[in-house]
Amino acid sequence: MLEPAHHADVVIVGAGVAGLSAARRLTRAGVTTVVLEAAPYVGGRMTTEKVDGFRLDRIGQLLTTSYPELRRTPGLDGLVLRPFVPGVLVHSGGRHHRAVEPTGPRRARGALTAARALATAPLGPRTARTAPRTTPLGGALDQARLGAALAKLAATPPERLLARPELPAAQALFARGLPARTVNGFLRPLLSALLCDPDLTTSSRCADLALRSFARGRLCLPEGGAEVLPELLAAALPPGTVHTGVRVTAVSTTSVTTADHGEVSCRAVLLATDARAAADLLPGLRVPPFHQVTVLHHAATEPPLAEPALLLDADRSGPVAHTAVISHVDPSRAPAGRALISSTVLGPPPDERAVLAHLADLYGTSTAGWETLAVHHTREAVPAMPPPHDPRRPVRLLSGLYVCGAHRDTSTVQGALYSGRRAARAVLADLGAGPAHGSGQLPMAA
Ligand SMILES: Cc1cc2nc3c(=O)[nH]c(=O)nc-3n(C[C@H](O)[C@H](O)[C@H](O)COP(=O)(O)OP(=O)(O)OC[C@H]3O[C@@H](n4cnc5c(N)ncnc54)[C@H](O)[C@@H]3O)c2cc1C
Repeated sequence: MLEPAHHADVVIVGAGVAGLSAARRLTRAGVTTVVLEAAPYVGGRMTTEKVDGFRLDRIGQLLTTSYPELRRTPGLDGLVLRPFVPGVLVHSGGRHHRAVEPTGPRRARGALTAARALATAPLGPRTARTAPRTTPLGGALDQARLGAALAKLAATPPERLLARPELPAAQALFARGLPARTVNGFLRPLLSALLCDPDLTTSSRCADLALRSFARGRLCLPEGGAEVLPELLAAALPPGTVHTGVRVTAVSTTSVTTADHGEVSCRAVLLATDARAAADLLPGLRVPPFHQVTVLHHAATEPPLAEPALLLDADRSGPVAHTAVISHVDPSRAPAGRALISSTVLGPPPDERAVLAHLADLYGTSTAGWETLAVHHTREAVPAMPPPHDPRRPVRLLSGLYVCGAHRDTSTVQGALYSGRRAARAVLADLGAGPAHGSGQLPMAA
């Protein structure tokens, strides 16, 4: 419980990953910090529900091992990332096509491995005998062009990508001369999954950053569920820093008011809520449009796919955008002898029968015996990033008042963590505190 008449140097409103990453940096610099969280748990969007021995993420969390903030954020040393291997399978024309895995460490080998990762082959013994000459990625020449384009992105620094002309992503992909089948068969479903944007209205700069991350790393999940990441950050804070079940109702530069726990005085306030809650507390802050997302979790006795791969639907033949046997990627998420299949619909919850029929088609197996464990719909899931999008929105509103969160950056875990870092730095500079003060420019995040 929060003591009445509490005081801290900095009050952070919201214990999502942005607020927690800022708190970690502030406390490490010796600044007394209190984090107030309205929910009874930390993590914000990154929460994991436990049902019958299954660990079900509220969101269909896809990370990449190349997100720089996963390495740079203090407190995340214990984070175990479970990779999708092979990274991606594309379902098209009733077949699975794979993006072949590189043989060496992908990140270290950079451009070359990005190019090699794009060779495709049909999946499974049934289809191997009748391998088609073309795949959703097109023929050999198309694949070579795509590989070269990805390799170039992998080798381009984020600053250069952010200086490129900005168009809606779909338009930019075609403008670069890539064949329509490569765009529609591979890049569109991949970017839909990475950006939660089926129509690719996202800024081409943000799409390039997402493709760059994909080309430089591996798609992965946090072992144990999405909640592990914020829990690691919270556990690394001094005891008594985080207070859950405390809703903030008003903020100023010197105090916050809570619904049931009185007022906390301070020298600075950092708003680390979602965009809408931030605008409720500080009218005038921008509320972006959002992409809505539904995540469905099913249990089966037999895994419908042999590999821990992310399966993308290139044909848009049903409501599911992408799906995976999550218990293959991270066995800790399902009890022994059961398979956990998690699927993402980029929209409102569809008819359950349509989902099961589509999954039967995607996996090529009956889904009649599957049990629905949970359906999570988030209407304001991911802030949309149409052009023009500023991925480095100011985090300092005025001395004593700061704002961070994915909506100030890119709408990803990487963006949320990086915005927390930027905000902590701005607070420390204004307070004249901590080792980060005055130590030059932050490196640019990808
Ligand atoms: C369905 C879905 C799928 C996603 N998929 C991906 C993905 O594949 N890859 C990826 O990188 N990212 C993905 N994201 C985005 C990612 O989860 C978010 O960018 C990130 O978790 C946002 O963190 P945050 O700290 O900015 O905000 P949040 O997690 O929203 O945290 C804000 C916190 O503030 C608290 N709060 C709000 N108002 C108050 C108040 N008045 N008083 C006190 N506390 C308050 C909230 O309870 C919450 O805990 C997805 C998100 C969703 C919803």
